[in-house]
Amino acid sequence: MKIAILGTGMVGRTIAVKLSQLGHKVTIGTRDTKATLSSEKGDAYGNPPFKDWEKGHPGIGLETFKDAAFGAELIFNCTSGMASLDVLKTVGKESLNGKILIDIANPLDFSRGMPPSLNPVNTDSLGEQIQRQLPNVKVVKTLNTMNATLMVEPSKVKGDHNVFVCGNDEGARKKTKEILNSFGWSNSQIIDLGDITAARGTEMLLPVWLRIMGTLGTAEFNFHIQKN
Ligand code: NAP
Repeated sequence: MKIAILGTGMVGRTIAVKLSQLGHKVTIGTRDTKATLSSEKGDAYGNPPFKDWEKGHPGIGLETFKDAAFGAELIFNCTSGMASLDVLKTVGKESLNGKILIDIANPLDFSRGMPPSLNPVNTDSLGEQIQRQLPNVKVVKTLNTMNATLMVEPSKVKGDHNVFVCGNDEGARKKTKEILNSFGWSNSQIIDLGDITAARGTEMLLPVWLRIMGTLGTAEFNFHIQKN
């Protein structure tokens, strides 16, 4: 499939590499390709500048957010949660309507330092905001409750653990589960929470996820739902 990954951070890069290894034609989207390819800045997690990373991944294209999405059959949103709505506005409905948009972003607001707050929260979510902004797009929220490397390599955490999926369109959730299967997630690990309002709950896992990371001193852990 032709897949666009909106986002040049560690999530976008990780998903792009996996999809490319799986044989998909992948293009990453960014605000300004020249600026991204000339930036000397790495990210807060110690990842190298995009221009250095990109040299090791010649099969993965880089275009503007709009151009990347235009030619794609399926799109991943891996942008900063505070910027996602604006990014998708820039992309425009014409390039998105009718398509599946897999949303991994979390609406974490770092403007008042650490720990970040969630905005929106409780009675709304970023997933729902995106769905309202783009009613003809099939938004599916998933993978936002874990570290990037685990998203495409679930075996990095031993034992049973889970990934959540939600979205209004059943067919889009099914397609997303197939993609998760191709990433290494078994059907028994995937918990389908139904419509996109479930994004409130999965986004609200982030404050506890961040606290657990601080306590354990590692990002390589995940939630495991145990039932009788
Ligand atoms: P990030 O630093 O949160 O986001 C990077 C992307 O956001 C870049 O493509 C950047 O555009 C875009 N961006 C940032 N500010 C912008 C603005 N003001 N206007 C337009 N675009 C803007 O990267 P990340 O750590 O890979 O995380 C991506 C998303 O996944 C986030 O929503 C995060 O909460 C979520 N998430 C992250 C992890 C993780 O392990 N890091 C795990 C679960 C979920 P340019 O390319 O133009 O710079």
